Amino acid sequence: MPDQKVGEGKKDHKRLGQDLDLFTISEQCGAGLPLYAPNGAIVRNQLMQLIRDKNGELGFREVSTPHMFRSELWKKSGHYDKFKQDMFFLKVDDEEFALKPMNCPGHINIYALRPRSYRDLPIRYSEFGTVYRIEQSGELHGLLRVRSLTQDDGHAFYAPEQIKQEVIKIARAALDCYSIFGMKEYKVKLSTRPEKYIGSPEVWERATAALKGALDEMKLKYEVKEGEGAFYGPKIDIDIRDSLGRWWQCGTIQLDFAMPERFNLEYVGEDGKKHVPVMIHRALLGTLDRLMGILIEHLQGAFPSWLAPVQVAVIPISEDAQDYAAKALSELRNAGIRAEIHAESDTMQYRIRAAQEQKIPYMLVIGKKEIDAKVVAVRRRDGKQASMPLEKFIGSLQKEVAERNLALTVA
Ligand SMILES: [Zn+2]
Repeated sequence: MPDQKVGEGKKDHKRLGQDLDLFTISEQCGAGLPLYAPNGAIVRNQLMQLIRDKNGELGFREVSTPHMFRSELWKKSGHYDKFKQDMFFLKVDDEEFALKPMNCPGHINIYALRPRSYRDLPIRYSEFGTVYRIEQSGELHGLLRVRSLTQDDGHAFYAPEQIKQEVIKIARAALDCYSIFGMKEYKVKLSTRPEKYIGSPEVWERATAALKGALDEMKLKYEVKEGEGAFYGPKIDIDIRDSLGRWWQCGTIQLDFAMPERFNLEYVGEDGKKHVPVMIHRALLGTLDRLMGILIEHLQGAFPSWLAPVQVAVIPISEDAQDYAAKALSELRNAGIRAEIHAESDTMQYRIRAAQEQKIPYMLVIGKKEIDAKVVAVRRRDGKQASMPLEKFIGSLQKEVAERNLALTVA
C-alpha cells in the first residue's frame, strides 16, 4: 500500500509536508524517524484531541508507558517469539531490553495492579504509544511507512458477554472519525480462526459470533477472511477510501484470549470464582503518522479549519490599517483562533497568493473601507468572499471549528 501512486497533478505528502512546513525526515537523524515542525505538531495534536474526545465517549482512560521494557516481558507476552526480527534491542546492566513494538504488555501490567471484580469491567486503557519496528530501508516511505510510529492504541478487558456491545461502540466511533475527514466509503473485513491458534474452538466460535453479531446489528456489509485472524483471536479491520480512490487499512478491533492467560489476568465473577477477562486491542485511526500522510494527500494540504495550522491570515492593505489589524489579531487569538498577521511590505496580491499557497482557510483583508464600516473583508481559500463584523466572523469560525466541519462555512 505505501507504493500507491498519487493522482495526476496531485502532490505527494512528502512534497506537501515540505511546502507547508509540516514535517521532515532527516538523514542526520535517521531514516524512518519523522520530525514534526510546529505546523505538523498542530495537526497531530488536533488529531489526538479528536481521539481523546472519542476515548472519553467510549470510556477509555488515558495511560502512559515507557518506550522500552525488559526482554523478559516480551518473552512472556509472546512478542519475543513472534516479532523478534522486527524489534530493536539494547543492553542495560548486562540485561537485554527492547524498544516496544506494541503497547499491550504495559497496559496488561496496569490492569494487574490490583484485584479486579466483574463490577469493575470493562476496564479500558488508551495511549498515544510510540512504538518502534524494524523496517527495511527500501520499504520506508515518508510518513506512510516509518520506524517510529505513534498509535492511537487501546486495550480493554471484558467479561465475555460484554464483547458484542463494546465492538459496536468502537466500530461506530471509528466510522465516525473517518466521516469527519470526508471518508465515507469503507470496507469491513472479519478475519476468522487461522490454522495455528490457541484457545478452545468453542471460545473462538463464541468470539467470532460476537463480532458477526456486532456487524449484523450495525447492518454493516463485511467480507469474511477465513483463517486470517490473529493466532490469539478473530478481528475486524476497516479499510477506508481516500479522495484519490485509494484504500487504506485504518481501524482494527482484535479479540485476544491469549495474552490475558499468559499474564494470569483475572477478575472475580458474579459467581465468586476467578475468570480470565477477554482483551480487545483496538485502534480507531491506526497510526497517527500514517494517517497524517494519508490525510495530507487526501486533502492535498487544504486542511479543514479545525486541523489547519494557521486558521486565519490577517492582511492589512494600507499603512493606517496596521493598528486595526493588530487589534483584530489579538481578538482572534483571545478567542482561541490560530491567526497570524501578514504585514510584510509586499503587495496585497502577493500576500493573498502566499496565504493561498499556504492553504490558510481564511484571510481577513483590512483597508480604509473596512475600518470605516467596522467590518473585515473575509476571503476564503476557495475564493468566496464576504464582509462582516469581526465578532460575527469569530463566532461563526468558532462554531465551524468546534463542529470539526470539513467544509468552510463562513462567508
Ligand atoms: Zn495491543
